[in-house]
Amino acid sequence: MINPEVDVKLFDAITAAEAEDATFVEVVVTEFPDCDGHLQYHGGQRVPAAYDAETSLPGNPWGFLCEGCFVELGTGRGLGMGRGQRLVLASGVAS
Ligand SMILES: [Zn+2]
Repeated sequence: MINPEVDVKLFDAITAAEAEDATFVEVVVTEFPDCDGHLQYHGGQRVPAAYDAETSLPGNPWGFLCEGCFVELGTGRGLGMGRGQRLVLASGVAS
């Protein structure tokens, strides 16, 4: 038997999660910082970062990460408040 009250609560929970996903997923920067993952784990290469995100490293430190390091070192929890933000270059700023 379907309980309408439970269905409504489930729907509300999903909507709230989706709303959270859309909150604070981007941060505007004037220039891309170097990828901390590359600096520390890939021979000190200087690669432009694409994310400022929590990592799965011990202590879950945050770092600037390129696409590859975001996949490799990230938590896999996606973006949002408390998880990570995609870096977006401010418009009108010469790269
Ligand atoms: Zn990297």
